Amino acid sequence: MASCSPDAESGELLEMMTELPPLETNCEKCGGAGMLRPRREGTVIYQGGQCDTCRGAGKLPTEAGNAVIAFIRNQQRARNL
Ligand SMILES: [Zn+2]
Repeated sequence: MASCSPDAESGELLEMMTELPPLETNCEKCGGAGMLRPRREGTVIYQGGQCDTCRGAGKLPTEAGNAVIAFIRNQQRARNL
């Protein structure tokens, strides 16, 4: 049996991984905290709490991230049916 030498393959895989675009980015609204501080603008008082833009995650998927999410959802749907 030939000796297993996955060096070339794993090197290729590593290259692919490093070429992946960022899948998420810091939420601009909460600055990556996931929470908003209470604040007042004129007479309106905004409650603090979970950021409604990222829903507390602190990060938002980028275009590439959304593509991955869509891919995973499609795969899950295909497997559940
Ligand atoms: Zn946020």
